Amino acid sequence: LKITVLGVGGMGSRFALMLHQAGNDVTLVDGWQANVDAIRQNGIQANFNGKQVAAKMPIYTPAEVAQAGLQADLIVVFLKSNQLTATFSQVRALIGKDTYVLCLLNGIGHEDVLEEFVAKDHLILGITMWTAGMTGPGQVELLGDGEVELQNFEPAGKDFAQQVVDIFQGAGLNPHYSENVKYSIWRKACVNGTLNCLCALLDCNIGELGKTAEAPALLHTIIAEFAAVAVKEGIKLDTEEVYQHVAATFTADIADHYPSMHQDLVQHHRRTEIGFINGAVARKGQKYGIATPYCTLLTQMVHVKEQLLGAK
Ligand code: NAD
Repeated sequence: LKITVLGVGGMGSRFALMLHQAGNDVTLVDGWQANVDAIRQNGIQANFNGKQVAAKMPIYTPAEVAQAGLQADLIVVFLKSNQLTATFSQVRALIGKDTYVLCLLNGIGHEDVLEEFVAKDHLILGITMWTAGMTGPGQVELLGDGEVELQNFEPAGKDFAQQVVDIFQGAGLNPHYSENVKYSIWRKACVNGTLNCLCALLDCNIGELGKTAEAPALLHTIIAEFAAVAVKEGIKLDTEEVYQHVAATFTADIADHYPSMHQDLVQHHRRTEIGFINGAVARKGQKYGIATPYCTLLTQMVHVKEQLLGAK
């Protein structure tokens, strides 16, 4: 199976490296020129749980894909949500009629963007609890353990999705075939839809947010908005369980962690995925006639902060 990892940042590097180490045929495509240059020269260089490793794989920019005649059986996409449309528009040549796309990005509604580029029965969606961080072009820190939960978007994709589970199993990625991945996607989006935007706007870490008197009410209100919209998409979130799941982070090992939106926006002045988290809930709420005042305001405020900081 020819696998292309599209978006070789932190997570793309992790999946590429682990799939490559397990003997799979992996090609990389990334749009950040400095990153492409570094990987071409030295491979992906990783601190892999304290051990320094390097792995060389062919790498192309999106603009080079068509000329190189690249085609993939499986595209594992690890762009940021807000890069999907622009990048997929550039790599259409990569997608043949038998190509599957696996999307493990945080957020909701990616299928609405991806259906322009790949048939829905060739789409596999999921979530991952693996983590990764870039420390420079071509350099990543890959610490800890994780898992992957995935499912074909439509019944016709089931055999291929199970094939992906087997390949990921062989690479030590701890995959599970899910019978209801949409529920998991919405549940994880509630974590990102509370902690990410609040910590980025308030410039605090997870534990600091959790110590404030208002945190429980904020979480409950935001999660209730997610749940009200999710019902319209056939997903009935257990809001109290989801609240407990999010609130548990306030006292967990990751309490001193700044969520990725804080890192992207406040620390690196990069545009955020808010449009696919709270922004998606606000957009869908409008479509279904459901008021989502908190998600709407949080989305607007993050966009304001992006502009104030000149985020790219
Ligand atoms: P990332 O920002 O590391 O990489 C995404 C893309 O941005 C890559 O193409 C990368 O080359 C590019 N990029 C990174 N730094 C850049 C810079 N300084 N200038 C220009 N381009 C740059 O993103 P990620 O953390 O790998 O996340 C990918 C997806 O996975 C997102 O949807 C994210 O929410 C999700 N996710 C991330 C983690 C994590 O721990 N990082 C965990 C679970 C899910």
